[in-house]
Amino acid sequence: NAPARRAPRRLESYVCGGWTAGRGEGVSLCDAATGDAVALIDASGLDFAAALAYGREVAGPKLRAMSFHDRAGMLKALGMALMGLKEEFYTESLHTGATRADAWVDIEGGIGTLLSFASKARRELPNTRVLVDGEVELLSKDNSFSAQHILTPLLGVAVHINAFNFPIWGMLEKIAPTLLAGVPCIVKPASQTAYLTELMVRRIVDLRILPEGALQLISGSVGDLLDHVTAQDAVTFTGSAWTGRKLKAHPAVIANSVRFTMEADSLNASVLGPDAGPGTPEFDLFVKEVAREMTVKAGQKCTAIRRVIAPRAHVDALVAALGDRLGKTALGLPGDDAVRMGPLASLDQREEVRARIRELQADAEIVAGNPDDVRLVSGDAARGAFLNPVLLYCDTPFAATAVHDVEAFGPVSTVMPYDSVDEAVALARRGKGSLVASVFTDDARVAEEMVIGMAPFHGRVLIGNRASAKTSTGHGAPLAGLVHGGPGRAGGGEEMGGMRGVKHYMQRSAVQGTPRLLSAVTGRWIEGAAVQQGVHPFRKSLAELRIGDQLVTATRTVTEADVEHFAHFTGDTFYAHMDSAAAKANPFFDDRVAHGYLIAAFAAGLFVDPAPGPVLANYGVDNLRFLTPVYFGDTLQVRLTCKEINPRANADHGEVRWDARVTNQDGAVVAQYDVLTMVAKTWPPTA
Ligand code: NDP
Repeated sequence: NAPARRAPRRLESYVCGGWTAGRGEGVSLCDAATGDAVALIDASGLDFAAALAYGREVAGPKLRAMSFHDRAGMLKALGMALMGLKEEFYTESLHTGATRADAWVDIEGGIGTLLSFASKARRELPNTRVLVDGEVELLSKDNSFSAQHILTPLLGVAVHINAFNFPIWGMLEKIAPTLLAGVPCIVKPASQTAYLTELMVRRIVDLRILPEGALQLISGSVGDLLDHVTAQDAVTFTGSAWTGRKLKAHPAVIANSVRFTMEADSLNASVLGPDAGPGTPEFDLFVKEVAREMTVKAGQKCTAIRRVIAPRAHVDALVAALGDRLGKTALGLPGDDAVRMGPLASLDQREEVRARIRELQADAEIVAGNPDDVRLVSGDAARGAFLNPVLLYCDTPFAATAVHDVEAFGPVSTVMPYDSVDEAVALARRGKGSLVASVFTDDARVAEEMVIGMAPFHGRVLIGNRASAKTSTGHGAPLAGLVHGGPGRAGGGEEMGGMRGVKHYMQRSAVQGTPRLLSAVTGRWIEGAAVQQGVHPFRKSLAELRIGDQLVTATRTVTEADVEHFAHFTGDTFYAHMDSAAAKANPFFDDRVAHGYLIAAFAAGLFVDPAPGPVLANYGVDNLRFLTPVYFGDTLQVRLTCKEINPRANADHGEVRWDARVTNQDGAVVAQYDVLTMVAKTWPPTA
């Protein structure tokens, strides 16, 4: 059941384009379950300043020359290739103590995160190298001076210092948004499980999908690396609050205002709603979730439930149900199919967790699981870092401190009672800021009060109930599209969150200037920028179309008959269109008005060019606003301007965004929106 014994592998670092061993003998890293030496780690003698310079100078320009879609395509290719190699990672992962289910979170969860970022970037980001942030700010009456916020990639390197518990996910969830932003990375995995990260980086380097230097690896201590970080670099850290605070206060980090993202201890809470007593589906879900969070990865998860907050009336039933479930957890060698929970990462880590349990016992009593008498279905408790799940109970949580302060990074949680919803919220907040909290309730008012009460202290809040029992991703799972990170004790950092995470590695700048030049900077047409008129823009393929190509249409007068016809044809006989007296009584109208959708439909009738051509489809509109009422007899005209062109990397078409502005006979804007179309790259299409 144990992975095959082998001579310890000497880990190397990948820096400045080559694999390098440290100068020293190397520190021995042991298999978590058997105690056998697995690898030797050392990075002494490396030139860390040169590694930073190499990333900045060799990889940075190559990454920045690519568009967001190019970089997304690169990550997708990388993710697919790594997925094909996953079994090798699963085998190596056994040394960390992870069962197959635990390793799935790390390996396939990590690769899945990379793939999620790739696909979100292709859907949500333009195919450009600069991101436009928000709308144009008008700064002059005559439109000769405006402003636009933009985001550009940092010119440095992101240094990612990771924790031992997710050697693969921890790397991939951080490098995905960084590389998408166009910024190279240096990854420093925690020593204890660095052999798994090193193996994956070897495969990534061999695949040659990333530009050289985009990913460097330090296997061992980072030496003087932080002395050389500049304002264009970023540092992220996951691990203990003590180390995190030390690194955040590093003189070079402070002097250069280096972006520092920290994710540290988190005493995550899960709350059982007052409505969710024994016999309800929520009670059963809660028991399952708490037990799962305690035992997955042997509780070595930054998001695991450490504090279990329950209505006083249900505490006895809860402790009994949890004790029963935890008592059935088969503990042993991670490769044993009968095993549900593997060991902690190392014997030192087990001693650390036992010491933390003793600190918790100042406030709480153990009600299930003996931390010292380990019961195994396989393996040797003297050689492997096995520990039973341990449940504690604290009867006076408002008088207690340790249960809210001490993070036992293992299969350990403390149950505490509450007497009102306000008390439950107050207890959750006693964690002083956490990554995640969850509430198990089927009562909408409880959900509202608890979530709004707890949210300021948490990066993520999950509501569990019967309706989402089958689909819920669970308390402990960070997702690529959702924010991961929390305030206060949790470090104050924010990672992932979909495309928000990409922006953490970019600089936001407010650019002020004349619209023509702002448009040249962003590659996006804005009001007041240059326009070209001539051939109907719908006759142009992407090869011919230019930003600012514009059509000013003929006019059309809206009649009462048009409105009557549209109303009866569509069934939209809302009084503002049909009943003069009622319309006049409405504060917004002087009489009956045309339907907004009739205006948009007439506008299309004015601007389309009907014959088959390069415009393949209209896939929607953005930001549609009806700004001025249209009365019978008003005359409409449309101005359609090509605003943004996004050719697709792997298709023979791209997306074109058009600024559509509909005005009346007085020049007042009656409707404003972006028309979204698919346009062929060439026309007629090439064979
Ligand atoms: P550490 O803070 O010791 O290590 C985290 C990372 O920082 C590792 O990569 C480590 O490298 C590195 N590191 C340590 N010292 C320095 C330094 N001076 N300069 C640069 N890098 C440094 O945490 P551990 O991983 O050992 O975990 C200890 C405790 O942290 C756990 O028991 C748990 O309580 C908590 N933890 C919390 C997590 C969370 O997200 N809430 C996640 C993981 C851990 P190296 O391994 O080589 O020392």
